[in-house]
Amino acid sequence: MRCISDLKAIATGFRTTWRHIFRRPVTIQYPEEKRTPFPRYRARIVLTRDPDGGERCVACYLCSAACPVDCISMQSAGRSDGRRYAAWFRINFSRCIFCGLCAEACPTLAIQMTPDYELCRRDVMDLVYEKEDLLIDGCGKDPEYDFYRHCGIGVVSPRGENPDEKPPVDVKTLLP
Ligand code: SF4
Ligand code: SF4
Repeated sequence: MRCISDLKAIATGFRTTWRHIFRRPVTIQYPEEKRTPFPRYRARIVLTRDPDGGERCVACYLCSAACPVDCISMQSAGRSDGRRYAAWFRINFSRCIFCGLCAEACPTLAIQMTPDYELCRRDVMDLVYEKEDLLIDGCGKDPEYDFYRHCGIGVVSPRGENPDEKPPVDVKTLLP
């Protein structure tokens, strides 16, 4: 009986080989040939700008808190008009696992994943990206989104006058 099961296993192996032997090879000659990743492939992280060209990041630390490997760090700062920004922003890509949790957590859509997977470096310190390495000139995905115009913070317009925003409520009028 053992002999029959062995023969069956060999036949199965040969059948699998013959099924694939005339198929087109899927191997590509990287780096001469590059594979196009799927549109939602998660690789190199960027910091984007809003439609007016301002930095979207408001240095809220949410991405840093969400990151399971603690590879994001920053220092917050504020402008005289109340708008916040990151004085410095750093991602250590040698620790990043490209899980995308930082992008999910970001309320301003500042931090986004791109399909650029060519991050390999010989020196591990070259994988520490500073803000100037991360900040791009465009909006990335969701090009219309502007956090300050939607959230109702009185930086772009006075409170209650931004799109999608209701006038502020005097909380004392809500007391019983
Ligand atoms: S993709 Fe994941 S591991 Fe990488 S920085 Fe974002 S939260 Fe951290
Ligand atoms: S990238 Fe987004 S989540 Fe991270 S600090 Fe900036 S605004 Fe907050």
